[in-house]
Amino acid sequence: MTDYSTFAALGLSAPRIAVLEAMGWSQPTPVQQQAIPHVLDGKDIVGIAQTGTGKTGAFMLPALELIRAGEGLQVLVLCPTRELAQQVMEETENLARGTAVRASAIYGGVAYGPQLESLDRGDEVLVATPGRLIDLMNRGKAKLKKVDFLILDEADKMLDMGFRPQIEAVVRGLGERPQTLLFSATMPHGVHDLALRMTREPIWVEVTPSGTKAEGIEELAYSVRPDRKPDLLIHLLEQPGWEQVLVFSRTKVGADALKARLDQAGISCDVIHSDRQMKHRTRAIDGFSGGQVRVLVATDIAQRGLDIEGISHVVNYDVPLDPEDYTHRIGRTGRAGADGQAVTFVTAADLGAYKTLEYRLGRSLDRIHHPDFDFAGGVVREKPTGTKSRSAGGSGSKAGETLTPEELEALLSFEDDS
Ligand code: AMP
Repeated sequence: MTDYSTFAALGLSAPRIAVLEAMGWSQPTPVQQQAIPHVLDGKDIVGIAQTGTGKTGAFMLPALELIRAGEGLQVLVLCPTRELAQQVMEETENLARGTAVRASAIYGGVAYGPQLESLDRGDEVLVATPGRLIDLMNRGKAKLKKVDFLILDEADKMLDMGFRPQIEAVVRGLGERPQTLLFSATMPHGVHDLALRMTREPIWVEVTPSGTKAEGIEELAYSVRPDRKPDLLIHLLEQPGWEQVLVFSRTKVGADALKARLDQAGISCDVIHSDRQMKHRTRAIDGFSGGQVRVLVATDIAQRGLDIEGISHVVNYDVPLDPEDYTHRIGRTGRAGADGQAVTFVTAADLGAYKTLEYRLGRSLDRIHHPDFDFAGGVVREKPTGTKSRSAGGSGSKAGETLTPEELEALLSFEDDS
């Protein structure tokens, strides 16, 4: 694994690192570690990060590294409020210390004079609220054709404030498509949609530390035979409280097959994956958010950053290989104080991946055997007392039935809490 624990390792230049040291920034924050190398590499970024995570440095440090002093406006930051615009401008000035790069901010509610002057001066970095910027563009004062970096900061707040048309108008006023970095504290559907439209093959950065989970999420793992997975899901969907369910499938083919099976069972369901057109994805997400669609099956590509409220259950139909993916996925449930449940299906073949996942998460999930679906041929060993496992749905365990050695091994391995 690449070591990104220093600013030098991220690819920043020595003079800039000296400035950071003088500011007391000895180490990059996680969002900086994740974003800076990709921005330096020319990639678009969608970052889910709140204020306080170091996100300003994450977008501004690499931008400052790549622009040229004296060549006019090259970095445009759009943000929702005057306070944030001032804050980003001040931080930019600090980060650009020792260079000839200058930053200015424009926002509404104040006189035009000084803002017009800074535009005339051709400061390299402009931090603006969308309303005032459009105003100045319409007056022919803000010239944005040479902008190389477009940064949308607190995108969720900008959309909440109704700035979407202004953001789109600003983008139409740019020249060639700039490298685009979008940051948002949350990723509701509107922001997700904006992110997909504005960025090109973005790198997704999310600062949810691996191994942590949101409060109020119950995590369960079901042992299941591969051919019984659809039936186990249908059985669970019949349980009380299983209202809006997001299901993750490892493959597109698997996602489509599952949808067909749920359709057959009369369960309202839709699918999102990268082969689906944007308009289909939007329709599926809207239907799911609106409650008309009860089950949404998604592949990982489609789920990054998705923030849909009111999800009661998340199902990992296949064991996620990466603990980060697991954490992102289960974070979709239990939002906004609501309780949620995250269920992972584990087949005998998945046991290795499942053990690795638990090891890397640093915690074990509550394990459940359901006699009708269990991979040990439908036979459930009497639970030893004191283990974490339990039987679901009130089905009692049947003791004393014979297991094949392979089944016993798989079962013991699943039971083993080490
Ligand atoms: P932000 O999330 O960009 O609003 O940054 C939050 C605060 O953390 C600001 O005061 C930054 O100056 C500070 N900060 C950002 N990155 C670092 C770092 N790597 N080391 C120390 N402080 C930082």
